[in-house]
Amino acid sequence: MVYLFLPLVNSCVEWYKRFMKELFTKPDGTPKRGLIMGVTNKRSLAWGITKLLHEQGAELALSYFPNEAVEKRIRPLAEDAGINNLIPCDVGDDDSIAAMANTLKEQWGNIDFVLHAIAFADHDALHKPFVETSREQFLSSLDISAYSLVATTQALAPLMVNGGSILTLTYLGATQVVPNYNVMGVAKAALEASVRYLAADLGTQNIRVNALSAGPVKTLAASGIGDFSSMLNYHKQTVPLKRLTSQDDVAGAGAYLLSDLSQGVSGTVHFVDGGAHVLGPTPVAAE
Ligand code: NAP
Repeated sequence: MVYLFLPLVNSCVEWYKRFMKELFTKPDGTPKRGLIMGVTNKRSLAWGITKLLHEQGAELALSYFPNEAVEKRIRPLAEDAGINNLIPCDVGDDDSIAAMANTLKEQWGNIDFVLHAIAFADHDALHKPFVETSREQFLSSLDISAYSLVATTQALAPLMVNGGSILTLTYLGATQVVPNYNVMGVAKAALEASVRYLAADLGTQNIRVNALSAGPVKTLAASGIGDFSSMLNYHKQTVPLKRLTSQDDVAGAGAYLLSDLSQGVSGTVHFVDGGAHVLGPTPVAAE
């Protein structure tokens, strides 16, 4: 009996694959082209999005922090997935961003989307009370985690001649106090506000700017947050979906926000956190 339905199931799968491929194909049949910023290893949230977009036919370039060790780690990962276009870029350096934009312009002429998945905070600032944050820790975190979106948008929006989509990654700590997230929460608040202002500036060019707010996922950056395992445990036990957010959860929503499926969406923060953002204070039993 099951065999009778197999052709139907197969044709549905084929249809779905064709449909998804069309998401990253332009009307002239050529692939959409985009830049992914923030892959450092297989666990990176940006890597999940990279794999999905690549499977769906997008042509991708990856930027990486200019460092030999980082390149040695990322190049084999990217090449195994069939991605050969790697461009160094330190988002804390305007010349480095300009050089990356020039490389993309020379290679492709124009681009269709950008994923910004970059954040940095000094280790100490994520392990002591927020009130003790130094000026230097505050400025470096805001610079790399928030201003870098403005700087890369400045450099790359001129390459989006047919409109485009810019997506950044954020976290609930932008609007609510999350233990140990500290200065990174302040940086994410600036990042989310930047998304709204950039969206307002670029809308007339049909360039959309959005943020995806992910639940906690074990990555290299996340492992720098004090007591991150407690954050994961609390999340799993309390959120409506009662499970952790996965790299695949983020990838699916990332593909939506970077494709024309979300063509009417700009300036928004889209939550992919199992519903964590709807929760209010959790009552505890009286002693
Ligand atoms: P990740 O794999 O460690 O990615 C962070 C990336 O930022 C790395 O590729 C890192 O490069 C890059 N970076 C830092 N400083 C840079 C600079 N000056 N120039 C260029 N690149 C720089 O961790 P992730 O968790 O996937 O983080 C990606 C984004 O998701 C971040 O914005 C993060 O805040 C956000 N997010 C993460 C979670 C989570 O729980 N994991 C939840 C919500 C939002 P190198 O390491 O190679 O130097």
